[in-house]
Amino acid sequence: MYLHELRLPVSKVRGVGPATERAFAQLGIIHVRDLLYHLPREYEDRKETRPLATAMQSGYANTVAQVVAHDYIGFGPKRTLKVYIKDSSATASLVCFGRNFLADKLQPGARIFLAGTFSYRYKELQSSSFEFEPYSSQPRIFGTILPIYGLTEGLSQHSVRQAVRNALATYGAKVQTLLPTVLRKRHQLSTTAEALACVHRPQRPEEAETGRRTLAFEELFVLQLGIARRALERKNKNVTGGSSGTTLPLSPLIRGRESLPFALTSDQETAVTEIVDDLQDGAPMARLLQGDVGSGKTLVAFLSALPVIQAGYQVVFMAPTELLARQHATNADRFLGPLGVNVGFLSGSLGQAARGTLLQAIAVGTVNFIVGTHAVFTPEVAFARLRYVIVDEQHRFGVLQRSALLAKGEDPDLLLMTATPIPRTLALTVFGDMATSTIRKMPPGRRPVETHLAREGNEQKVYDWVRRELTAGRQAYFVYPLIERSDKSELKAAEHMYEFLSREIFPDFSVGLIHSRVREDEKERRMHDFVSGKTAVLVATSVVEVGVDVSNATCMVVEHAQQFGLAALHQLRGRVGRGSHQSYAFLIYSTGLTEEAKKRLKVMMDTTDGFQIAEQDLIIRGPGDIAGIRQSGYLRLHVADLGRDMDIMNHARKAAFELLGEDPGLLNAEHAGLRDALTGTEQEENAL
Ligand code: ADP
Ligand code: MG
Repeated sequence: MYLHELRLPVSKVRGVGPATERAFAQLGIIHVRDLLYHLPREYEDRKETRPLATAMQSGYANTVAQVVAHDYIGFGPKRTLKVYIKDSSATASLVCFGRNFLADKLQPGARIFLAGTFSYRYKELQSSSFEFEPYSSQPRIFGTILPIYGLTEGLSQHSVRQAVRNALATYGAKVQTLLPTVLRKRHQLSTTAEALACVHRPQRPEEAETGRRTLAFEELFVLQLGIARRALERKNKNVTGGSSGTTLPLSPLIRGRESLPFALTSDQETAVTEIVDDLQDGAPMARLLQGDVGSGKTLVAFLSALPVIQAGYQVVFMAPTELLARQHATNADRFLGPLGVNVGFLSGSLGQAARGTLLQAIAVGTVNFIVGTHAVFTPEVAFARLRYVIVDEQHRFGVLQRSALLAKGEDPDLLLMTATPIPRTLALTVFGDMATSTIRKMPPGRRPVETHLAREGNEQKVYDWVRRELTAGRQAYFVYPLIERSDKSELKAAEHMYEFLSREIFPDFSVGLIHSRVREDEKERRMHDFVSGKTAVLVATSVVEVGVDVSNATCMVVEHAQQFGLAALHQLRGRVGRGSHQSYAFLIYSTGLTEEAKKRLKVMMDTTDGFQIAEQDLIIRGPGDIAGIRQSGYLRLHVADLGRDMDIMNHARKAAFELLGEDPGLLNAEHAGLRDALTGTEQEENAL
């Protein structure tokens, strides 16, 4: 019943003809269910009387009025009807642009319910945006709390209200409640049918909110149930084909730590322990390791690979760009090599012969730590004994790549790393079935980056500052939003600025240029020159955003900073402040900033804490846009709002995990509706 009737086309609703159906489709309203869940944007309280006299101040009236007289503005067929009205408090006029036909309904003497926005012009109170109906003891849209819906061309508030009302009358009561009764009792929630009625046709303003809470709870509960089920399924699987709970040798881990010139931070210690515990657990690991740029995640990942390799398995380390993969391969070789690990770098720019040799070594298992981009998971790469997959900067990869990758091993352990901290609300949805390790504190000795804003036109001051740093032996990045100048845009571009900076500003320093169109081997050479200090200034696009590690670089200049998102700005700033010298970020912005851009720059000035920046990003942009979240799929929320429904989320999650834990059969017999809803959600996910 739940699935069947609610999946009927919306045209089955009384009063919805082909034109309305087409308009609804524009809003994604295809089935009856979509219409029922097309929730009002806001409400207009037509219960509260607002006499005309108060409209002078408030700009809004809701009153019982009487028509006094007609008049026309202009002459001939283009003239416009003007209707004079009064209530007990004042007089006003209604200007009926394009609606001269209202003359019939608004005959002098008629009493009407009237609501509209008013302004004082030409020495009278006027409205051209108003609604009315004849005065009666049973008004249709007056004396109620009126829902205001999102519209599109071909729809009016009236037509949507009518359609929703009819849909509610025919199908509303048939909507099955998905929340188990115990939960509804515990959290004082209504049935779904009641909640829908409340949201669309509240009798009191509070009812709309309680109805919405029920619907949001239900939505998040279904979401969390899916997550709980995935988590449970994974728990019941075994990594190594049956021999659950492999004990891994820990001696290489100890040796690895002893080979470091520094001690791990306590957050790193905890993360290593958590990961290695998971690795020894029989079930495949699914863990997210988050921590700001430079907090030492990579090192944690390297360390955690040691016991796995010692036990005779292979580890894959995947990075989003060739540049980054190369750097990781170098670091891995430097750190893991002396500990007996055979590191292989599977690069797109590898020659045929070298590639063949490497693939062979991977297939027989002599290479046991494989670094690369997503190319490590093309079909021709076969692993001897892949057991552990580490993904750096996970948000750069889509869900599909991630699952293609997992299909390579027999449910390998998975560690996702991210320097784009995920706000807790989102972590509980998108990565809700994963465990999380967090590195909050930076290694000791780092000084926070000083951030400065500069308006376009004041670049010279920034250049002067950078010059002082360069003279002191430090290095600098200059980042631009474009590679090449274009006719369509005023934006500065990396290529042109490279010319300018190297000729006009820093002729006495060596300047390099890097962007995605530079050939791979050339890119490597230029990058190497910067890492080794041969070039002092690196001009780039946001390719340097991720991971690049040069501790002698102390200046990050971002021109047209307003063009970059918060996550990118944060990542860029993270390129400096990696050594012991004081570092600086200069964000140069153009005039005419949008409100959003202003907010972003303010956040960058206010904090260097990646977690706070991520929370702000969520608030400024809304969850749909957060880096990688959209592509990572399952965030299709219609009712719940992750910004404001955090507590509902927590309750729903707890309830879902508890219920499924107590009663793994929950989704079978009794709760067919719940099972169907879940299947529906998963189909949606898989379709992404
Ligand atoms: P992330 O992967 O989080 O960006 P990395 O693991 O690349 O960070 O670490 C950044 C730099 O800090 C590296 O040069 C690394 O060797 C160094 N580092 C990592 N952990 C520590 C520590 N506990 N103490 C000092 N330096 C550290
Ligand atoms: Mg990193």
